[in-house]
Amino acid sequence: KELTDINSLTDEYLRLAYHGLRAKDKGFNADFKTDFEPTLPKIQVIPQDIGRVLLNLINNAFQAVDEQSKKGIEGYKPTVYLKTKLTAQSQLLIAITDNGPGVPPEIKDKIFQPFFTTKDTGKGTGLGLSLAYDIVKGHGGEIKVESVVGQGCEFRIEIPIKAL
Ligand code: ADP
Ligand code: MG
Repeated sequence: KELTDINSLTDEYLRLAYHGLRAKDKGFNADFKTDFEPTLPKIQVIPQDIGRVLLNLINNAFQAVDEQSKKGIEGYKPTVYLKTKLTAQSQLLIAITDNGPGVPPEIKDKIFQPFFTTKDTGKGTGLGLSLAYDIVKGHGGEIKVESVVGQGCEFRIEIPIKAL
């Protein structure tokens, strides 16, 4: 583990995901917004592992808004929001929010299971969220999803600021 600036790490993987998807797909027109808490303390994490978690969740979010934008809803602006903050319970929170199709309640408990995917063959392995779950648990943290179908979803990662 290394003492890590989560704001920089999140920003780095956001840009990596964004530019990667744009390079692959000329029609990619999603946008992002960030709200990083400037006084966030550095925390002890394995940066490469938390980076993979971020990359998986950010890629999912961009894929979700991209899918939603293909429905041709008037005035729709595909957007991914990244937020960090320190919670009242001394947890470091990273929220990845999108205005995509959302996660239907009937699959909410399944999405963190290995190999669960709703994507076409070749587009999804169903391993991203299960890996994210294991890595966050391994840091003594939690990962949760809140969603309103048709409006989007929010994945929340909470990691205790005190190293385990
Ligand atoms: P994959 O992306 O390969 O399908 P994941 O483990 O990353 O695998 O995600 C599992 C499933 O969870 C996805 O197939 C999708 O149904 C759902 N999901 C994940 N992120 C989102 C999101 N941001 N919006 C809507 N559904 C999502
Ligand atoms: Mg995925």
